Amino acid sequence: MVHLIRGFKDILPNEVEIWQHIEKTVKMIFEDFGFSEIRLPILERTELFSRSIGEDTDIVEKEMYTFADRKGDLITLRPEATASAVRSYIQHKLYAVDPIQKFYTIGPMFRRERPQKGRYRQFYQINAEVFGVESPFIDAQLIYMLMLLFSKLSVDDISPHINSLGCLACRPKFKEALVTFLSGKTDQLCSDCKRRKDKNPLRVLDCKVSSCQEALEGAPATLDHLCDGCREHFEKVKDLLEKLKVEFVVNKRLVRGLDYYTRTTFEIQTGSLGAQSAVAGGGRYDNLVKILGGPDTPAIGFAIGLDRLVEITNLKKDVYEKRLNVFIATLGENSREMAFEWACDLGSSEMSVEIDFSNRGLKGLMKRADRLKAEYVLIVGDKELEEGSAVLRNMKTKEQVSVPVEGIVDSVRKIVL
Ligand code: ATP
Ligand code: MG
Repeated sequence: MVHLIRGFKDILPNEVEIWQHIEKTVKMIFEDFGFSEIRLPILERTELFSRSIGEDTDIVEKEMYTFADRKGDLITLRPEATASAVRSYIQHKLYAVDPIQKFYTIGPMFRRERPQKGRYRQFYQINAEVFGVESPFIDAQLIYMLMLLFSKLSVDDISPHINSLGCLACRPKFKEALVTFLSGKTDQLCSDCKRRKDKNPLRVLDCKVSSCQEALEGAPATLDHLCDGCREHFEKVKDLLEKLKVEFVVNKRLVRGLDYYTRTTFEIQTGSLGAQSAVAGGGRYDNLVKILGGPDTPAIGFAIGLDRLVEITNLKKDVYEKRLNVFIATLGENSREMAFEWACDLGSSEMSVEIDFSNRGLKGLMKRADRLKAEYVLIVGDKELEEGSAVLRNMKTKEQVSVPVEGIVDSVRKIVL
């Protein structure tokens, strides 16, 4: 048989309910905070990503699924959603309607990384993006919203790590300090970083190779090189988070693996994922809309790793488990004919119904009803039908009542719902 591609996975029906529950909760909370859903394509032109994420990043250098389509155009399975959201904001001139736009989107991303627990080649993200707000209030509000979502989803052992990466005004000075620092460490850097050090030195900070991480001991931090504007912005974000009682960690070492970030960046770290400790990451990207050809527009957003979120939620199964209200057990041809119509009627009146079409006996049917965790079983035998009634069994209390065939759909609904 043909198997899955490595790093890809199926999400089976008995697992999918928690995904649905999380997605529903996201929708509710994000819409309460003024976000609207946007649905974006999974394929985009390759240059959208190389221009936004940056040529010297791991994602663009090594991880993208890029291929030429039949006409030879280079296209890429999206490795992240922000670039597409920005493209859409610009392409549809959404800024002309209102420069302030808040989107969220949920869907698959593709990166050709080494598969391991919590790391897949097709994985899912929940993204939120805000365009047109420069104020630090929104930074704090986004982090607050994220933490609220996690608490609603019973995720504990998490904390936001925050940092500021500065802006176009203060970054050159920082870059200078970093280049000076790195020039003394060339020998210790991996081959990628030897090249990055000259082309895009900031990327060295994000290198996962341990010798590079060691070489970075004592490296200058962006936080120590912020201009007044960036420092005030960061101070305000911290004040606001304190006001909102969000406990956070200032992490000078936090850089993100994409080039477009500016000012506030953050990651939600958890102790419960082992090596893959980040369950969400995000931050400002105040220059990206302009870089991609739109008006100068500040922006900020985050991405939650949905696969990892599913792994760490402590939600009890009964919160999201699919319910089966009624299982219809028919015993005989006539009863099946009649109950078939009831099943369709019940199914179209907000009840979940399963009717078994097989010829198995009552024992086998009850076994299946148990397996499906049916709340009620409607037992319909030809003999009962002759008497003009069926039996409704409450599977929890084991109580049975006789229900007249006349008006049975309404009667069952009244009892079950
Ligand atoms: P990591 O450091 O774990 O590689 P990242 O910085 O590459 O994460 P982002 O691009 O910021 O991740 O994406 C946001 C979130 O998406 C991450 O915090 C993580 O939860 C999730 N994520 C990223 N890559 C993967 C993957 N390959 N498999 C599963 N989840 C992922
Ligand atoms: Mg990564």
